[in-house]
Amino acid sequence: MYGTFQKHLQDELKAIEEAGLYKKERNIASAQSAEITLQDGSKALNFCANNYLGLADSPRLAEAAKKAIDARGYGMSSVRFICGTQDIHKELEKAIADYFHTDDAILYAACFDANGGVFEPLLTAEDAIISDSLNHASIIDGVRLCKAQRFRYANADMADLEEKLKEAQACRFRIIVTDGVFSMDGNVAPMDKICDLAEKYDALVMVDESHSAGVVGPTGHGVAEQFGCYGRIDIFTGTLGKAFGGAVGGFTTGRQEIIDMLRQRSRPYLFSNSIPPMIAGAGLETFRILKESNELHDRLVENVNYFRDKMMAAGFDIKPTQSAICAVMLYDAKLSQEFAAKMAEEGIFVTGFYYPVVPKGQARIRVQLSAAHRKEHLDKAIAAFIKVGKELGVLK
Ligand SMILES: *Cc1c(COP(=O)(O)O)cnc(C)c1O
Repeated sequence: MYGTFQKHLQDELKAIEEAGLYKKERNIASAQSAEITLQDGSKALNFCANNYLGLADSPRLAEAAKKAIDARGYGMSSVRFICGTQDIHKELEKAIADYFHTDDAILYAACFDANGGVFEPLLTAEDAIISDSLNHASIIDGVRLCKAQRFRYANADMADLEEKLKEAQACRFRIIVTDGVFSMDGNVAPMDKICDLAEKYDALVMVDESHSAGVVGPTGHGVAEQFGCYGRIDIFTGTLGKAFGGAVGGFTTGRQEIIDMLRQRSRPYLFSNSIPPMIAGAGLETFRILKESNELHDRLVENVNYFRDKMMAAGFDIKPTQSAICAVMLYDAKLSQEFAAKMAEEGIFVTGFYYPVVPKGQARIRVQLSAAHRKEHLDKAIAAFIKVGKELGVLK
């Protein structure tokens, strides 16, 4: 049997490669950081990680992880509700709820699981999910697992959201679902307006803070802080894999009865292993670090502003970012790939995106800033952008 299936896979893989969409991995032989060493010994500056607060190689988090291993062991060998809950799992849930000003939180192995397990236990075919068109794949999959009716509105388009809310008025319950920061443009969901519409049309509100928590808002607490929406958002999901240390782990946090129901019925929680003690211990330390001072977030904001201003002054077409994601617009798909490849030759890792990841004719280089970047890293990246920009005729 495998012969014909093998041929089928080989043809598909070849088609992916010919379309220029084949994903290759970069083998890093150092810790994740602003400066990385590759397996061949070469060094590069990393501008394509979600390491927004620079905590991925934090000695303090590594130490907290080691301490948790010593005190609570390596693994849990259980799901949470059978015998996979330690004191530190509960403490981490409390720290997350405190951070987001919510009643309670529930941990998952990843935010992918949090989003996969949030809709089906709460909503039925009588209800409606109204989802932003650029929401993350895990939200799309979570919605697919639920029988609720589906409505999709154009990215951050409040007139379209209002239309969809009107269409969904006959349903029993409605929920509006959005990413906090959208990963391709770095734009922010207008949470204040979303909450206003939710009140007008009697809908619940859910936001996925994966790219926004630790990043946006005056002290980096995410879009609820930025738009003054505490108390108006019913459900938050997020990851420990980006700004919050960059390891693994996800969570849902929000109103008490919602979290209580997820503990009873959410399938990725009930049927998948508990996060290991080291992740819970280091996760707790992450929230301690963020409570102690705002230094990391301040440095991130400074870096974003510095990079954006210098790039615009150099003549690049930059999307007006509101986050740590900076889109350098090139519009042409082939150019975006050439540009990223030449940047890699200069020792700068950035990502070139084109259709179907972004709309046709909207190809770009995505740059992700981090608190771990120092001025000389930023200057080196900007100089490389200018050099490659001139070589490829993007800059005059
Ligand atoms: C990264 C991301 C996720 C997935 O998070 P993991 O914890 O890595 O599974 C989910 N939602 C959004 C919006 C993300 O950006």
